[in-house]
Amino acid sequence: MNIHEYQSKQVLREFGINVPNGKPAFSVEEAVEAAKTLDTKVYVVKAQIHAGGRGKAGGVKIAKTLDEVKGYAEELLGKILVTKQTGPEGKEVRRLLIEEGSNIAKEYYLSFVNDRNTAKIVMIGSEEGGTSIEEVAAEHPDKIIKEYIDPAFGLQAFQATRMAYKMNFKPEAIRKASAIMMKLYNAFIGKDCSQVEINPLVVTAEDDVICLDAKLNFDDSALFRHPDIVALRDETEEDPKERWAAEEGLNYVNLGGDVACMVNGAGLAMATVDILKYYGGNPANFLDVGGSSTPEKIATAFEIMLDGGQAKGIFVNIFGGINRCDVIAEGIQKAAQIIAEKQGTDGIPVPVVVRLEGTNVEIGRKILEEKPVKNVIMAPTMEGGAEQIVNLVKEAEKNS
Ligand code: GDP
Ligand code: MN
Repeated sequence: MNIHEYQSKQVLREFGINVPNGKPAFSVEEAVEAAKTLDTKVYVVKAQIHAGGRGKAGGVKIAKTLDEVKGYAEELLGKILVTKQTGPEGKEVRRLLIEEGSNIAKEYYLSFVNDRNTAKIVMIGSEEGGTSIEEVAAEHPDKIIKEYIDPAFGLQAFQATRMAYKMNFKPEAIRKASAIMMKLYNAFIGKDCSQVEINPLVVTAEDDVICLDAKLNFDDSALFRHPDIVALRDETEEDPKERWAAEEGLNYVNLGGDVACMVNGAGLAMATVDILKYYGGNPANFLDVGGSSTPEKIATAFEIMLDGGQAKGIFVNIFGGINRCDVIAEGIQKAAQIIAEKQGTDGIPVPVVVRLEGTNVEIGRKILEEKPVKNVIMAPTMEGGAEQIVNLVKEAEKNS
């Protein structure tokens, strides 16, 4: 789960971490009121969306007067901000963070993430902080410093000090920087984060070290232990289809394309997305229907894929194990019936290619042969089926 920058900074404050004073604002009036409470000559007006790259996209403004705060708040609220991370459709700005300005001497990068290869948390630092760490990693990999953290011992003070030296903090800032690293690690562990990213971590002209930006991600599986974090959820930032699927117990990720797929097993679902792409398709989603499906659940999965006219074709790729092919077949029939009733059509409105293998496959095929569903085609192989659905979607696009 993601939260906004101002919320992340609030969490960091709980751990005694230095962040600028600031307040969220949902309206222009609130923005001006928030600015009035700050004891500063320079204000920063920051768009709050669940995406980075705001600086370069005009989502971070420096204001010298309350009038300028008002002007920037008017400009940003309601604006669709398109950044490197939002995709071309952008995200609407509904909240702002009004903060006191900082006197930046130098910007650094610091983050904590899970490293799957070593099964450890890794602390990543760079003296090339600011906006685009991806470019630094590509062009100057030597400027990216890593410290792997032993899960039994946690982040050690000597590691934080070593990181601070390697990041070339000035002598006056070394202790402050390493102290912030220790506290950020405590926050990562204490709140079951999956990512803590501070970009930039800055040294000010007064030699203070502060987190000027903060991005916290949380491990969804641990959220039950953190009702305070769950309360920070901003549903307007989340994909409505992903929320719907989560409520129904389906593992669904919207990928934005138009060739949908419904698969059992996360590995096979990933392979299916790959193979659709391989044949030139634009995958609409990742969807793992899980091991214990019912016809009703399958029908809901179809509704989600078709919602909003997103799917122009559906590839059902099932290797039945615990999931039985006959249940999937019944689910497809049920889906056709439900969609027909709800939308007043005569079934599923797009081509569906079905590849079934495994437990009860003969019964499953028989169900679909005896009572065929409109637009449903059986495919003998995964490759063949993937190629077929991609071609059908392309044809449909040509004809429309
Ligand atoms: P992001 O682009 O979405 O990651 O947003 P950031 O919060 O990182 O802001 C982008 C950039 O705006 C930072 O790297 C800073 O250069 C600048 N910035 C943010 N806050 C301040 C501030 O208080 N004072 C000054 N002078 N610049 C700031
Ligand atoms: Mn940033």
